[in-house]
Amino acid sequence: MRALMWFRSDLRVQDNAALHHACKAADKGAIAVFAICPKQWASHDWGSMKVDFVLRSVSALSAALAKLNIPLVLIRSEHFAQVPGKLLALARRYACDALYFNREYEVNEQQRDREVTTWFREHHRDVHAFTDQVIVDVGRLRTGMGGYYTVFTPFKRKWCHVLKEEGLPSVSPRPRRQERIGIEPAAIPATLRGFAGHLRQDLWPAGEQVAHKRLRTFVSRKIGDYHRARDFPAGDGTSALSPYLAVGVLSPRQCLRAALEANNGKLDSGKQGVTTWISELIWREFYRHVLIGFPRVCRGRPFKPATDSLPWRDDEEQFAAWCAGRTGFPIVDAGMRQLAQTGWMHNRLRMIVAMFLTKDLFIDWRWGERHFMRNLVDGDFASNNGGWQWSASTGTDAAPYFRMFNPLSQGRRCDPDGSFIRRFVPELAGLPDSRVHRPDVQSLAATDYPPPIIDHGRARKFVTQAFRRLRGRTSH
Ligand SMILES: Cc1cc2nc3c(=O)[nH]c(=O)nc-3n(C[C@H](O)[C@H](O)[C@H](O)COP(=O)(O)OP(=O)(O)OC[C@H]3O[C@@H](n4cnc5c(N)ncnc54)[C@H](O)[C@@H]3O)c2cc1C
Repeated sequence: MRALMWFRSDLRVQDNAALHHACKAADKGAIAVFAICPKQWASHDWGSMKVDFVLRSVSALSAALAKLNIPLVLIRSEHFAQVPGKLLALARRYACDALYFNREYEVNEQQRDREVTTWFREHHRDVHAFTDQVIVDVGRLRTGMGGYYTVFTPFKRKWCHVLKEEGLPSVSPRPRRQERIGIEPAAIPATLRGFAGHLRQDLWPAGEQVAHKRLRTFVSRKIGDYHRARDFPAGDGTSALSPYLAVGVLSPRQCLRAALEANNGKLDSGKQGVTTWISELIWREFYRHVLIGFPRVCRGRPFKPATDSLPWRDDEEQFAAWCAGRTGFPIVDAGMRQLAQTGWMHNRLRMIVAMFLTKDLFIDWRWGERHFMRNLVDGDFASNNGGWQWSASTGTDAAPYFRMFNPLSQGRRCDPDGSFIRRFVPELAGLPDSRVHRPDVQSLAATDYPPPIIDHGRARKFVTQAFRRLRGRTSH
C-alpha cells in the first residue's frame, strides 16, 4: 500500500496522527502533499503575514520529511473546488492507494473534504481522517440534553471530565525513515502573487524546532506566573505560540503535555499559572466546538441570531482611524499599531480594541474580524470569530450584564506605567505617566496625535440602548 498524506493545518512531523497512521500502513511508502489555494485563501481573508508563515512552515516541513525520505509535493488549485480532481490525479500518478488527513472544522473545509472523500472512494481508494487539531474530539462533547455547548464553563468542565476518564490521547511517535521512493520534493515558493506586504520573519521563525524551544522556554520560565503576567502587554508573560498552533507546527497535545509536566500531571488543580494556561487551550477547543454546533458562524452570521438586526454604524472614516491606530485612545492605538507592526496582538488588547470598535464606535464586528484576519500572523477562523463575537456581545459571552470596557481604565490597569503605549505610540513617549493614558490638548500640541474620535460616556449610552431595544424586541 502506498499512502498519500495530505497536510493542511498540521504542518509538523512530530505527533501528527494522520502522518503516523499513513506511514505505519504504507509498506510501499508515503508521499506528502500540500495544496496551495491562493484565491480560496484570499476569500478567507488570509493576509501576507499568515501566507508567508504558512509557506515557510511548509518549507521547514518539507525539509523534515526529506530526512525521512518522504517527498513533499505541491498541488496548486486556486479554489478548494479544484482540489478533489487534482489530488486524485496525483494519487493516480504516484499509484497511491489511500489518502490520509487530519480533520478541519470550518464549513468550506468540511465540504471540500466530503468531496475529496467521495471522489477517492468512487475511484476505489481508501480515505482515513483523524482528529488531531484538538485534544478532545469537539464533536463528541455534548450537554446532558445531547446538544452543543453554548457556554464555556460547562464545556470546560465536560472537557476536563472526559480527559480524566479517558486519559490524555497518546502522542503519535515520529515516523520511521522509509526507503527512498524516487520522487523529488517540490520547490516551495517563497512568495505568492497577491500576498505581498509587510513581513516580520524575524519575529516568527518557522519550524518545529523553534516552536518546541519557545514552548520549553515558556513552560520552564513563565507558566508559573502566567495567571498574573498575562494581562500586562508590556511584559512577555504569554507564550506567543499562537501562530505555531494555528498552522499546526505545534499540536495542542504537545502543549498540554508540557503544561501537565510542570504541574505534577494535574489538569484543573495545582499551580494557578498552569491551570489558567490550560484554560486558554480549552477556549481554543471551545471555539472549534462552536463551529461544528453552530456552522452559521462560518457564514458571517452571529452566534446569537437576534443580534443580526443591530443597526451597526458603517462609519468608514472612524473604521480607518481604528485600523491605523489613530483613535486618540492611547491603549487602543498601541494595540492596533502592535498588530500592524508585528502581525500579532496581545490578548488583552485584542479584547480592548474589539470592544472599542464594536461598542464605542458601534461598527460591525465583521469589519474588525476581517481586518484582524488580514493582518494577523496567527489568523485562525474559529478563535478570531469567537473572540470578535464574544467582544461584540453577539457570541458566546454568558455574562448576565452588558459588557463594555472603558478604554481609559483598561489602559491604566493593563499598562500602569504606560511603557507599552510609549513603545508603540512614540508621539506620546515624552508624556508623564499621569498623562500618557489621557493626553491633554497642550501636550498634544507638538505632535500630530489625534484627540479622541468619540466620547466614551455618550457612546456607552447609545450602545446600551441599542442592545436594550434588541432585548425588548426579542422578548415579545
Ligand atoms: C477579537 C479577538 C480575536 C482573536 N483572534 C485570534 C486568532 O485569529 N488566532 C488565535 O490563535 N487567537 C485569536 N484570539 C485569541 C487570543 O487572543 C490569542 O490566541 C492569544 O493572544 C495568542 O497569544 P499567545 O500564544 O501568547 O497565547 P497564550 O496566552 O500563551 O495561550 C496559549 C494558546 O491558547 C490559545 N488561546 C489563548 N487565548 C485564547 C482565546 N481567547 N481564544 C482561543 N484560543 C486562545 C492560543 O492558541 C494560544 O496560543 C483572538 C482573541 C480576540 C479577543
